[in-house]
Formats: sequence, structure tokens, C-alpha cells
Amino acid sequence: MVQNQLIGRGITDEMVINSMLIVPRHKYVMEDKQEYAYYDSALEIESGQTISQPYIVALMAQALKLKSIDKVLEIGTGSGYSAAILSRMAMNIYTIERHEGLAHLAKDRFRSQGYDNIAVQVGDGTLGWPEKAPFDAILVTAGGPVIPDSLINQLAIGGRLVIPVGDKGEQILIRVKKTLTGELIEENLGLVRFVPLIGTEGWGESNIKNVKPC
Ligand code: SAM
Repeated sequence: MVQNQLIGRGITDEMVINSMLIVPRHKYVMEDKQEYAYYDSALEIESGQTISQPYIVALMAQALKLKSIDKVLEIGTGSGYSAAILSRMAMNIYTIERHEGLAHLAKDRFRSQGYDNIAVQVGDGTLGWPEKAPFDAILVTAGGPVIPDSLINQLAIGGRLVIPVGDKGEQILIRVKKTLTGELIEENLGLVRFVPLIGTEGWGESNIKNVKPC
């Protein structure tokens, strides 16, 4: 997986590569899907959600430009896999999931693997985690119609926010950097397909009928 899907496609960040070598991806998927855990694709997880394709996880983690002392917020815990990857690269990870069952499963996985620098919350991640802000980096692993203002406000000076923004079928992966003067610089990192970001500053609950997860 690491050699062919990541390095072969241009992932160069050593922290990302090491982290993806260490974290056992098969422990983040349902038992009947474990044989596909290292395939070059997203997979269905509990609650009708998905664990993203390994390359996309690596691409987003690399785009965050993490330092080992960073405090990171993730929106969309899902299986817990990307939070586990980030936890091997940065000091503290805060992750929010709207499905309670997924949040509890992820928490159990972190505990059993000894990843003790990850805090999990159940709730609407579009509003961020104000009590723990500001964050050096914010990763959103579901696609929203806009960049939530709450997340921009909770980004530290010099911080990076990576989020898929677009419609419910396709999105552009965007990196926003908050400069020393507080100015926002946006970069387009390419076309992606994510499940919808549902919440106050995302898609409304009633708009998500017939959406196919990535
Ligand atoms: N990071 C996950 C992993 O490694 O398995 C992949 C997550 S999946 C592509 C996106 C997740 O975002 C889903 O579990 C979904 O329930 C969650 N989600 C969607 N909207 C959310 C919101 N407003 N707050 C928190 N989680 C949300």
C-alpha cells in the first residue's frame, strides 16, 4: 500500500509515510472487510459511512504540513483511521463525529492500540470545538457546501485547514492557510468525492437523500 499507492503517487512527507506504515488499517474496518483494508479504495464502515482511500488519507495528512508539537482538529472521525494516522504525527488530536456509534467504536480502537493523545466528541463538527481552539491544523473528512466560518475562526495564526468543498457528488479539496496577518490563502488540491458534511454550517439533514458515499 505505502510503496505503490502512496510513494508511487508522489507522497513524500516522511511523517505521513511512517505513520501509514505503523497504523494497522485492517483494525479500522468491519471484520468481513478486513481482507480489503489495504486495497486502493474507500470502504464501507458502520453507520453507512466510509473509510477513505489510503492515498486520500495520505494526501490530506501531507497537505496539513504538520509539526510534532501541533494541536489538530478533525471533523468526521468515522472509523478513527485518519485520526490514528494524525496522532502519530502531531501532539494532540481532537476529533468529532456525528454518529455516536462510530465515535464509541473509534474510541475503543484508540484505547486498545494505546493511542492516548486523541480526544473524541460526538456532535456537529461544523461548529468546531471552541473550548480547545485555536488549532494549528484542521482536517474535515466530509464534503461541505462552504468552508464553515466556525472552523476558520478556530484556526490559529499560521494554521492550515484542509476541506472538501463542492456539491454532494464531487468536491474540490481546498487548503486554507491563515497568514501571520490573519489573511486567508486558498489552494486547490484537486477533485475528490466524500460523504456529505451534515450540520449547521454544512448540508442540512433534509438535503442528503439519495447521496452515494465515496
Ligand atoms: N476520517 C474517517 C476515517 O478515517 O474513517 C473517514 C470519515 S467519512 C469519509 C466522513 C465522516 O464524517 C462520517 O463518519 C460522517 O458521519 C462524518 N460527518 C459528517 N458530517 C459531520 C459533522 N457535521 N460532524 C461530525 N462528523 C460528521
